[in-house]
Amino acid sequence: MIKRCPQHGFFRGEQCECGSAGQLLLDDAKTEQLGRLVAGCLRHFPGDLGLVMDSHGWVDLNKLGQVVTSRHRWANKELVIALVMSDSKQRYEILGDRVRARYGHSVDVELDHPENKLPKLYYGASEEEADRILEIGIKSASQRYVHLSTTPEKAWHVATFRTGNPRVIQADAAAAQKAGVKMMTVNDDIIISETIPARFLAILAAKDIAIQTRTDQEN
Ligand SMILES: [Zn+2]
Repeated sequence: MIKRCPQHGFFRGEQCECGSAGQLLLDDAKTEQLGRLVAGCLRHFPGDLGLVMDSHGWVDLNKLGQVVTSRHRWANKELVIALVMSDSKQRYEILGDRVRARYGHSVDVELDHPENKLPKLYYGASEEEADRILEIGIKSASQRYVHLSTTPEKAWHVATFRTGNPRVIQADAAAAQKAGVKMMTVNDDIIISETIPARFLAILAAKDIAIQTRTDQEN
């Protein structure tokens, strides 16, 4: 759910960090409905809904407000702003009267986030995926950019949603960027990258990942 704290603005969940119960703006079901619609508008099919997206992914915030109201009578521009501002994953950003998704596009956009400065980046995969990645590189069939993690542990954690036995691949980001692969910082957790050729990739040994594996716990 999305609520508003009189002191700290929009937040998700029951309580603001300050302890205030705040004012309810959207219940869980509507938050999910609005979130799915906004993701569709800003990541996947802006044109189908009559929105014009520029090459960097921006659309007009007022127009997006009209689109969400046309789909759900209870929705409006103010709730889109609340959704954006309360999102801990920073999926979206608003600049003046424009809004865009910061990552996760399936439509073709050229994002212009700051260049990645970390020398090494990480990607979690299943064992089978890892074998394939080491041969053909990291690329996405459905998205413009691939998502990388900033530490081996974060990459491992992301991969646990898809596989019980994650492998972590280390990318030599500095060398890849030097060779022309564009990598950008979305937030503290996520770097997005163009396709990374296999020559910049290596599998990381389990001992280099600070995760308590099941075997560790048993011993
Ligand atoms: Zn508060």
